[in-house]
Amino acid sequence: MHECLQPRALSKLPGPIKKLVASTVLTGSADGVKLLFERTPKESLVLLLPVIYKMLDPADIPTSRNPDKSFPTACTVPFFAMGTIPRISGMPKEVGFDLWPRLWAWFLFIESDCQTRDDRETEWLACTRIIHCALLFRYLRHTETNTLLQTTPRLFSAVTRAWQSASLQWHESDGTEGSGWAIAELAVAITLLATDPPPWKSTSPRMLQDLVDGADGSPAVFASVLMQHIHIAYLGTGNGAGWLHLGHLIPFLESFLETADHPNADLACQILQELVDQDLIPSLLRAVHTAAIIPVTQHSDQIAGQCLRLLTKLLVSKQICGTAVRASIIAGLLRSTLLCGQKSYLATSHNRLKTVLVDILPPFTLYRQVLRPIRGILRRGEPYTITTAFAASGLLASWTHFAGVAKERLAVLDAFESGEILHIKSCDNILCNKQAPKTDFMCCSGCQNSYYCARDCQETDWKDGGHREACSKNRTPILNETMSPTNRERSFIRAIVHRHYVNAKSQIFRDTVKCLQKHPGAGYFVEFDYIVMAHVRITVRSLSTNSTVLEQLSRHPQWHQMLARTARSDGRMTIHVVQMVAGDKTGSLLIPLRSSSGIVAKGLERIARELPSAGSEELEEAIQNLVVRSADEVEEIH
Ligand SMILES: [Zn+2]
Ligand SMILES: [Zn+2]
Repeated sequence: MHECLQPRALSKLPGPIKKLVASTVLTGSADGVKLLFERTPKESLVLLLPVIYKMLDPADIPTSRNPDKSFPTACTVPFFAMGTIPRISGMPKEVGFDLWPRLWAWFLFIESDCQTRDDRETEWLACTRIIHCALLFRYLRHTETNTLLQTTPRLFSAVTRAWQSASLQWHESDGTEGSGWAIAELAVAITLLATDPPPWKSTSPRMLQDLVDGADGSPAVFASVLMQHIHIAYLGTGNGAGWLHLGHLIPFLESFLETADHPNADLACQILQELVDQDLIPSLLRAVHTAAIIPVTQHSDQIAGQCLRLLTKLLVSKQICGTAVRASIIAGLLRSTLLCGQKSYLATSHNRLKTVLVDILPPFTLYRQVLRPIRGILRRGEPYTITTAFAASGLLASWTHFAGVAKERLAVLDAFESGEILHIKSCDNILCNKQAPKTDFMCCSGCQNSYYCARDCQETDWKDGGHREACSKNRTPILNETMSPTNRERSFIRAIVHRHYVNAKSQIFRDTVKCLQKHPGAGYFVEFDYIVMAHVRITVRSLSTNSTVLEQLSRHPQWHQMLARTARSDGRMTIHVVQMVAGDKTGSLLIPLRSSSGIVAKGLERIARELPSAGSEELEEAIQNLVVRSADEVEEIH
């Protein structure tokens, strides 16, 4: 046993306290114990460890053999002892190994007893003591966490149960009675889990499972416990305690996002998905919104910034970015941005919002479901953006950039949905030139992805066109699975690419000629990069050069099929690669452009061949001629 726990340590106590100890130990009265802990100066509390150790003797735990010592009588003194432990400063860490088994034995008793007693008040007391227990664990975990965990299975299940009963208690007291105190207690408990790195990540992989087990093993229930605490924290923002609570919760939630290579990745991801399903995003935005309306405390900017940091991480997380982006827009991300922009004290938040507007949101506007809800906000937001406060915040440039991208794509969306963009299709037999509305063609029943004007064409493509090999592979989209767009989404993305192709024709032709001159006969493709901060970056690349796109696509057999088709098309088919964002990774969508004749390809080859040393004027004239001639072609992006 550690020397701090030996009775001789008591000899260093001040005289009057020593007397109190003697009488307390003699009578064992609860009032005496209370007095003892109150009277002892904070710096001398460590000297009371032998008394605390004695008070937590597991032999005093009521059992069927000593039923007369019933709860709560039996628990009063140990409760005082437990409540004192977190207040002790300068306690040697090794003491925990002697104290811990005693503490844990009492907690187990309190918890099991509460379950049979149905006594809310004692349950509340019990749960706060469990949180104290968790606090002690935090204190110890830097030394011998694994040993401790091995001797205390299910510790974290108890923590979850404590949270659960704490929020229940909070709701039953209508959030008034001692709620500030409750929040402070819970904040402390959450801090211990939120330390970096998260303990469940590095030292004890079982911990996350244990936490969830405390909520009947259900990630959904566990998420709802967390959401209740976010709710409580949010309601407490009026007095500042809530902000503090929120400030502790956010890093804990963030720890779920750092799971990529962890054995708990699936579970963490499920919890995250549940949190988003249970309206985590609107809650975060509500906090940001509140910070923008009432500068409650000096923490407003810090906490709003933290909420936005978590939100930003959700928006780029591989697992859930698809739903998170849309949910954020609908929950008022842009409205909050406009509001925050009016408040100069939200500097941290402004910086995060700039990142959101410039780096994160624009690539997602390729998706109709994200783009649609933006329309009204852009219109209603105008009055906000013309205020001097908004301009002074530095958000104006980022907002203008984002609004520019969104408006451009909304114009394409309007044309797309009104049917103005005709869905003309070319027969997928590359040797056939027939073009007609998609509905006039037969669709391959295998992949639902290839269309033919007649059975003959289907057979030709199957036998000679490589569709036999491509058919099964066509069923898996080439883009990263998490962001794989539906057929309708793909059509919309093609419409956008086509718009950019038409607008940038001269540039594309010019770059193609350069590419052909530099790499004669090697073939080329056009890359539309929607991930870059500009609206789109268009580059022409040779198939013979190394590029990350080629590397990415070399893994897809479809790429080879498509190249073979292009080669057989006599210039009527070119390849376009669309670079898109898919969470924290990027994906490539491979789309061919078919045209009714090969005049563009042949024209470009001719220019490259015949004008290798021509002056820029002559070259420009040839390119402009080709741009004009190509306008007569029927072009279709598949
Ligand atoms: Zn055909
Ligand atoms: Zn097929």
